[in-house]
Amino acid sequence: MNIDPGALERWDKEHFWHPFTQMKVYREEENLIFEKGEGVYLWDINGKKYIDAISSLWCNVHGHNHPKLNRAIEEQLKKVAHTTTLGSSNVPAILLAKKLTEIAPQGLTKVFYSEDGAEAVEIALKMAYHYWRNRGEERRVFITLSEAYHGDTIGAVSVGGIDLFHGTYRDLLFETIRLPSPYLYCKKEFGELSQTCLADLVMRLQELLRARRDVVAVVLESGIQAAAGMLPYPKGFTKEVRELTRKHEVLLILDEVATGFGRTGTMFYCEQEGVTPDFMCLGKGLTGGYLPLAVTMTTDEVFEAFLGEFGEAKHFYHGHTYTGNNLACSVALANLEVFEEEETLEKLKAKIELLTERLKEFRDLEHVGDVRQLGFMAGIELVKDKKRGEPFPYGERAGFRVARRCWERGVFMRPLGDVMVLMMPLVISEEDMNRVIDVLFESIKLM
Ligand SMILES: *Cc1c(COP(=O)(O)O)cnc(C)c1O
Repeated sequence: MNIDPGALERWDKEHFWHPFTQMKVYREEENLIFEKGEGVYLWDINGKKYIDAISSLWCNVHGHNHPKLNRAIEEQLKKVAHTTTLGSSNVPAILLAKKLTEIAPQGLTKVFYSEDGAEAVEIALKMAYHYWRNRGEERRVFITLSEAYHGDTIGAVSVGGIDLFHGTYRDLLFETIRLPSPYLYCKKEFGELSQTCLADLVMRLQELLRARRDVVAVVLESGIQAAAGMLPYPKGFTKEVRELTRKHEVLLILDEVATGFGRTGTMFYCEQEGVTPDFMCLGKGLTGGYLPLAVTMTTDEVFEAFLGEFGEAKHFYHGHTYTGNNLACSVALANLEVFEEEETLEKLKAKIELLTERLKEFRDLEHVGDVRQLGFMAGIELVKDKKRGEPFPYGERAGFRVARRCWERGVFMRPLGDVMVLMMPLVISEEDMNRVIDVLFESIKLM
């Protein structure tokens, strides 16, 4: 079916309300409408080719239109697309649950399915709260971080800390205690963090945990506050939080939705800190960027608190129509197999080094105020005045203007405000990486 590109553009503006988008501005501009993909490349409806430098919002792993991933869906489709898991089961969901517990940090033995990262967090919050109730304790407060992002449903927003996104809904949200963002609190310059201030932050958490008996859980993004503009934690922060939460018998929820599936160089970031949380939330890369699927993984200890006779009504009353969808689980299984077959993580090491090397070039650019990296995730912060660290006014959309220049040169970018994000599919070649980085460098230089 060939539809006239002009008609598509018109209908898009007339009927499609886009997420995180000022529609007045969107409707005044020319936008990208993608039609097909292959490997790290995307083509728009006018036939123009782009490198997908943000992995289609951080979820694509092994490239678009991957033969093995396609086949997994086609094979499953011949059997059945969806069967409910509310009290019954299906083959790919069982196999995937088993596989995930094999590759996750030891102790995470239980898998609860949902569709998106926000739901995975929402489920962890409800489970953690419910866990204490089933144990006969009334706890109600969560400890979170300023600048946190865990998704856009009300529970996930409650534990979020980005005022621009979350401030509007304040009256609808439940209570949390917010500690400062470790990166912003401890930042010196260009990715360097002060260690004394880290100790100070950990001390504040310790005092809180000592003083309060009503804390349900500490909720953290794992390794980096990605949506806030790629703000990494100091090394060791997560480990300290894990030790403190254990000591004070508080649960730890780690949100690996952005960092999971290789983005930081290991399958999950928490491996790098030698940490097993009580809950690990996964989404984005779980299906290699193919279908919406998320999971909340937890421990035997949490699981067992929900066991009882039917009449005791201790069970977790939560589920979604598509929980454990057969097609999504099939492609997630294939995604994990491709990690092994293509040695994705082994090959990524050299690419992370290349990224580290090439990011150094950006520091000298007039409008670059900071450069941050964790593994294969990077953020380049644009500023109006470098010496004074003065940002561009919000309405100027400096980041977006740079992104548009990249589009013109065949690189698909989407910034976080004025932070240019590099989140390339793990499968990208060094040649394409260099192309993306060259284009971004030139586009910032031209500001
Ligand atoms: C993207 C993201 C989410 C939300 O996931 P959705 O699938 O968009 O709901 C949650 N947490 C983190 C860390 C994320 O990056």
